[in-house]
Amino acid sequence: MVRLRFAPSPTGFLHVGGLRTALFSWLYVRQHAGKFIFRLEDTDQKRKVEGAENDLIRMLEWAGIDLDEGPGFGGDFGPYRQSERLDIYQEHVRKLLDDGNAYPCFCSAERLEKLKDDQRAKGDTPRYDGLCRMLQQEESSRRVDSGEQHVVRMKIPEVPETIVLQDLIRGNVSIDTSQTEDQVLLKSDGFPTYHLAVVVDDHLMQITHVVRGEEWLPSFPKHLLLYRYFGWTPPEFAHLPLILNPDRSKLSKRQGDVAVEDFLDQGFLPEALLNFIALLGWSPADDQELFSLTELVKEFSFERVNKSGAVFDRDKFNWMNQQYIQQLELNDLQQRLLPFLDKTPYAGEDTVLLKKAFGILQPRLLTLREIGQRLSIFFDESPQATDPEVFKLLQEETSKQVLSAFIKELESVEKLGEDNLSGLVKNVQLTTNIKGKNLWMPLRYAITLEVQGPDLKLIVDLFGKQKCLRLLRSALEL
Ligand code: GLU
Repeated sequence: MVRLRFAPSPTGFLHVGGLRTALFSWLYVRQHAGKFIFRLEDTDQKRKVEGAENDLIRMLEWAGIDLDEGPGFGGDFGPYRQSERLDIYQEHVRKLLDDGNAYPCFCSAERLEKLKDDQRAKGDTPRYDGLCRMLQQEESSRRVDSGEQHVVRMKIPEVPETIVLQDLIRGNVSIDTSQTEDQVLLKSDGFPTYHLAVVVDDHLMQITHVVRGEEWLPSFPKHLLLYRYFGWTPPEFAHLPLILNPDRSKLSKRQGDVAVEDFLDQGFLPEALLNFIALLGWSPADDQELFSLTELVKEFSFERVNKSGAVFDRDKFNWMNQQYIQQLELNDLQQRLLPFLDKTPYAGEDTVLLKKAFGILQPRLLTLREIGQRLSIFFDESPQATDPEVFKLLQEETSKQVLSAFIKELESVEKLGEDNLSGLVKNVQLTTNIKGKNLWMPLRYAITLEVQGPDLKLIVDLFGKQKCLRLLRSALEL
């Protein structure tokens, strides 16, 4: 049975990169009727952020990625927080020490700092020089027994060798052990480093596939060596490509939001987020872009994940969210809009009118949060346009002619609705000799106050003659 894990560190909010790692693993698990495990990698206590564990789980839940095992979920292989498994790591380090595959290192932080500085000054890559590896066994044991502070390092093979990884995404990747150093496995406070904990846990938790970010690729020789030292068969590995900004720099907060939480707050739908994220690196055999989660489970494969970085295109994300909003049943849309509506002045408005407004706005909404500004024309006494493009067009001479002529037409009829709008506009065309865009746009802008406003016919039908007259007159005054 396949068993994959999502193993975040509780250092902050769930990043879209983390969500993608979770999603790809989860898709693979569900495709193979396996188990999806959540493991909290909280061995770096200094970087731990209060509340991060809950946030990570809450965001996975929101996105619809369900777990089979993890803290609070049960399963036979826990505890699932690394900070609660220290004795397990220490026991494994003892085995490495006994077998001569690791050694205690007593070097002080100052010595290591100076060593690095000297190496850098010479233009060398900073790495541990193996001083304590050379210590006689008796001396090492004596110093450990006397309680001297130390870490435990793994031994990289004396004779350099090339370690080859068959990565599910990158194919064969080789790295020479001369490029790695004697990695610290156990810190002086008794906590393991990532490198030890990840190998021990992935083995004990019977993980079959390790899916993680490309930033971990250089670490695989250390991990494969540890599997060898313990006499274990390594799992399969899939290293996912980076997620990039459009300028191809690494995706960063500087160019917009990157936390899943931010997307939730902005009113992106979880279905749209997952669909969008699935396409960050993975691509289907044809050019289909919209995928339900069920389709993704069916189609996903590591073979179709790209090696090169995937660009996070925010316009495309908006477009995709719009597609998903358009597909919602009106009742469903209404439910999803409620938390956003609650933050607007329109929360207490008439529910029938609200629902009508939602229906009219549905095709144009890019995000749910936009509802606040879009409801203004439906409920405010004198709504104002904010888009400079709207002002500019309404101030043009031809626009004013159209608006005045339309007001006259409107004053001569009893009511305005979807059925007589075109006839009235036709009359304006005949009297002003203005047609096409120059005819329709001033009317659209004056009544909807937006460039991308809702369908004019639906709006006039809802607003009726008096409200439209008010809007047209105030547009004429601009
Ligand atoms: N704790 C690591 C991280 O948050 C996980 C890496 C892995 O999945 O092995 O990046």
